[in-house]
Amino acid sequence: MTKIPRINIYECAGCGLCTFALSEVFRMAPEGRSEVYAPNKAEKTAIQKVIDNCPVGAVHWYDDGK
Ligand code: SF4
Repeated sequence: MTKIPRINIYECAGCGLCTFALSEVFRMAPEGRSEVYAPNKAEKTAIQKVIDNCPVGAVHWYDDGK
């Protein structure tokens, strides 16, 4: 099973922190929330740091079932 990051758009405050920290994985979506566009483009430790630093805890690991 592979773990990939996901953002809960209902929790995301749109601060942009994750997109600045790891722009190869996260980007801002038109609705003012961030999104994961390339979940495998960074080391899991770097993604975990983004998860730990999101001010509202909106980034989560998700099991993609593979
Ligand atoms: S750091 Fe958290 S609150 Fe800020 S844009 Fe990313 S997911 Fe949203």
